Amino acid sequence: MLKFLILVGLIIWLYHSPAVKKLLGKQARPSAKPHTQETEQMLRCAHCDVHLPASEAHRDGEGRPYCSKEHLASGPGH
Ligand SMILES: [Zn+2]
Repeated sequence: MLKFLILVGLIIWLYHSPAVKKLLGKQARPSAKPHTQETEQMLRCAHCDVHLPASEAHRDGEGRPYCSKEHLASGPGH
């Protein structure tokens, strides 16, 4: 009987211990957000100087980035 109580106490202690809570919390929480937005290279529109991610840039023949097709058509300058 005493051994059983010790076992139950051990299980309760383990269940409430910070290490186990941390482990359970980690499993319950969704994985960390990907940092694509922060790590992606930011470019500046050659026409209006708006910052945009490199993957969304419209490039002209010389490789200058533009925020939109309209500014790509307008060309560099302010
Ligand atoms: Zn622009």
